[in-house]
Amino acid sequence: MAAKRIGLVAHDDKKDDMVAFARENRERLVRFELYGTGTTGGRVAEGAGLSITRLKSGPLGGDAQLGAMIAEGRLDALFFFIDPLTALPHDVDVKALTRLAMLYDIPLACNISTAKAVLAAL
Ligand code: PGA
Repeated sequence: MAAKRIGLVAHDDKKDDMVAFARENRERLVRFELYGTGTTGGRVAEGAGLSITRLKSGPLGGDAQLGAMIAEGRLDALFFFIDPLTALPHDVDVKALTRLAMLYDIPLACNISTAKAVLAAL
């Protein structure tokens, strides 16, 4: 069976969380095909030693690329660590991406504890 595909995105203040999560769960994550927005993808590849396809940076279209993958049935789960304390200039991207994850009913994890639960269930 083909590996399931997970999208990884973390806002700036949440990138450390994403790297910590990826390091801690490396043994599981290595079995998946990983896609990340540019900066998040780079941090995860470097920090956890995982192979990840890097899309454009989120604000430059990376969030939209992940949204397109969801709409086309090419993403099985999204780990999107949203920063709840900082207003983001590209908030429209956040809304569009979370909306598509809801619309297409794929698992959407917005923090470490949910990501762990989703990972265990996939
Ligand atoms: P980044 O994008 O990983 O390229 O920083 C994340 C985001 O959507 O803000």
